[in-house]
Amino acid sequence: MMEYWIRRALEVVKTPFLLFDLSVVEKKYLEMKAALKKADIYYAVKANSHPRIISLLARLGSNFDVASKGEIEKLLALGVDGKRMSFGNTIKREEDIAFAYKNGIRLFAVDSEMEVEKVAINAPGSFVFVRVETDGADADWPLSRKFGTNPEHALQLLSYASKMKLIPAGLSFHVGSQNLNPESWKKAIEIAGRVFKKAMRSGLNLFLLNVGGGFPVQHTKPIPSMEEIGKAIEEAIDENLWFVHNLKVIAEPGRYMVGEAGWLVTKVLLKSERSGEKWVYIDAGVFHGLAETIQNFEYEIRVLGKEREELEEYHLAGPTCDSVDVIYDRIFLPKSITLNDLVCFINAGAYTVEYNTRFNGIEPPKMVFIEELTEISIEEKIKTRVLD
Ligand SMILES: *Cc1c(COP(=O)(O)O)cnc(C)c1O
Repeated sequence: MMEYWIRRALEVVKTPFLLFDLSVVEKKYLEMKAALKKADIYYAVKANSHPRIISLLARLGSNFDVASKGEIEKLLALGVDGKRMSFGNTIKREEDIAFAYKNGIRLFAVDSEMEVEKVAINAPGSFVFVRVETDGADADWPLSRKFGTNPEHALQLLSYASKMKLIPAGLSFHVGSQNLNPESWKKAIEIAGRVFKKAMRSGLNLFLLNVGGGFPVQHTKPIPSMEEIGKAIEEAIDENLWFVHNLKVIAEPGRYMVGEAGWLVTKVLLKSERSGEKWVYIDAGVFHGLAETIQNFEYEIRVLGKEREELEEYHLAGPTCDSVDVIYDRIFLPKSITLNDLVCFINAGAYTVEYNTRFNGIEPPKMVFIEELTEISIEEKIKTRVLD
């Protein structure tokens, strides 16, 4: 089916492009709603911030996790109210905090004293939650080390926030992006349960648990279903946070919501053999949509029309004049792969077009929506009918 739409898209655009199916986003949103009945969904805008995606999710009732003034402005322009946004970045510019506050955002993430102070000054009286660190185990794209703090420090920060006349709301964590193990959420919620209990004893009544993102997309390894993860989260909440009155649960899916909805379609520009090594170069690379492959993020790859062919080992690289621009150093591709073949990265709707540069003056992949192509085809149909 996607192959048909790729051919249609090629009539109107050149490669590379991200062919995107909005109906998949709607399906994923509803699936998550059903699996996490108690949670409010805050889509992590950074995964793919295209206006069509934001508008669809806004219409479905989603809230949004934002990281900067730029993202907030984008959402405001699409009619999303600041009340539906959470400022989840723990490293914010002061003027961005003030801008967020002015536009109705009252929910901020922190993981350090200085960030608490910045929020207290620029967004007085707001709700804050503290990001607790996780070890990023079982995640294919860890988000640990740079963010989050230990449970003891989290408690101190919540008290500090209260002293600074902010409202200490609760905790967040992120188990690491593309996490393949439902137990990861369980472990984090157990830790959260202990912090909530201690906070209660010291007079802080926390009520917010933000279970972050990390929900996986199908790539080369088997993944747990949303239902399984939802069950693990709900059970862990029942076991560890039963004592919290009116607990508010937030989930911040990024990758999960959009990953499956897009295929990155690229074209072979060159095939060569040097010192006994075979190289294939395509028109997208680590500076043009495939940034996640620098840490060996594994996409399923399909070379159109050559799916059944015998495979051979290649280096796969991007088009720029930089030796970092190598997608995979060892990848199996069809033996006969050659100039102009279409190389598709399956389920690449997240963290691809958001990472674009124009390095070397090379155009980044654009987005093409199946819905747009359908619109074109209806017009064409009308035209033909008129001609008849
Ligand atoms: C990136 C991010 C997310 C989304 O993560 P995914 O792994 O894409 O689901 C959620 N919350 C925060 C704070 C993030 O930075």
